[in-house]
Amino acid sequence: MINGERTIARPLRWGMVGGGRTGQVGYKHRTGALRDGTYQLLAGAFDLDAARGRDFGTRLGVAEDRCYATYQELIAGETAREDGVEVVSIATPNFTHFEITKACLEAGLHVICEKPLFFTVAECDEVAALAREKGLIVGVTYGFTGHPLVHQMAAMVKKGMLGDIRIVDMQYTHGFNSGDDTGAGEAVKWRTNPATAGSTFVLGDIGTHLYYLSEVVLPHLKIDKLLCDRKAFIPTRAPLEDHATVLTHYDNGARGRLWVSSVNAGNMGSQRYRFVGSRASVEWSDAHPDQLIYEVQGEPNRTLHHGMPYLEEESLAVDRMGALHTEGLGDSWANIYLWIAQAIDAKQRGDEAFLSSHHYPGIEAGTEGVRWLENCVRSADAGAAWVDYQ
Ligand code: NAD
Repeated sequence: MINGERTIARPLRWGMVGGGRTGQVGYKHRTGALRDGTYQLLAGAFDLDAARGRDFGTRLGVAEDRCYATYQELIAGETAREDGVEVVSIATPNFTHFEITKACLEAGLHVICEKPLFFTVAECDEVAALAREKGLIVGVTYGFTGHPLVHQMAAMVKKGMLGDIRIVDMQYTHGFNSGDDTGAGEAVKWRTNPATAGSTFVLGDIGTHLYYLSEVVLPHLKIDKLLCDRKAFIPTRAPLEDHATVLTHYDNGARGRLWVSSVNAGNMGSQRYRFVGSRASVEWSDAHPDQLIYEVQGEPNRTLHHGMPYLEEESLAVDRMGALHTEGLGDSWANIYLWIAQAIDAKQRGDEAFLSSHHYPGIEAGTEGVRWLENCVRSADAGAAWVDYQ
């Protein structure tokens, strides 16, 4: 169980790029990072609007002279200080991730970046090589995979409790973009423009969460081939999609079905996962993250609750609130940030043995998400054809 005791020697000096007052995801970063005393928010280039960013930063408790107008100024200002930040989170629109990550790494700063990490696998490979050369960590905020019951599912699969995995059924949908984009805010505008979003809308925006969580639960399954069918129900969003389905063949013979959509009108279900094995199935949704449905063929169905002693050690180890009390998205983000802090701390101490067995979403996870998107787009652009996974 995690109880807030500091697990690294001292808090990491932390800065943020983006995630300002009007940003959607910034508070999730701060909720995650500031929970366990592993990060201290000391600097930021929080906003494209420099004055608003400064006002916002000072209200977060950041010194005025460390609220910068641009990320370039942040890097220059902080690297010039002895007590400058050592890790920077990037919570800006997709098209900026690559250049800001590279600039931070080149300046010797660890990076925690939003997903989808970059536009191409080639960019991911370039950054992975740079991070390796500089001895720095790149973490990726797949914020839903800190939930304790995600790790319960992974442990059950590992123990063979489901039998051989046969079916992977995943859905992340909502209806917030069911209407057209007249009068849409900035967050919708950049998400529906290929120049700022990349080659996908909902596949990258929400589908990458499904894909990464499936990697955490089923690390032994690799994709052989997939078929992706995507469509823009609101034509102005084309060539990007507001709806997609992906069929998957895995190397063990398992079959997958994935649905992402932001035009599922009225739907508030968010994410749903069902992993079916030859003996039993598990089903979990982030709408009810405290409960896991466990169904064994021929037996009464069970609902497992987070924090209960009957759960696997891997799940209990990352529980924060204890059974009976709600454990939610903020707790999941706190775990992600904690695991990345432990990775940075180990890197700084040169503890490669710790790093080799430490679980956190890093550059590989970010790269695999981008690889999945590239394969989806290749299939969709070939007319929803089956493509070998590359
Ligand atoms: P947003 O448009 O709501 O907010 C972006 C913020 O970044 C704003 O504060 C804006 O002023 C600032 N900004 C933009 N460019 C900047 C720059 N060059 N320098 C400094 N600040 C800059 O976007 P959002 O919805 O918060 O999404 C941001 C990123 O987070 C995207 O990559 C998105 O895919 C990702 N995201 C991830 C999750 C998750 O669960 N991990 C959830 C939502 C969004």
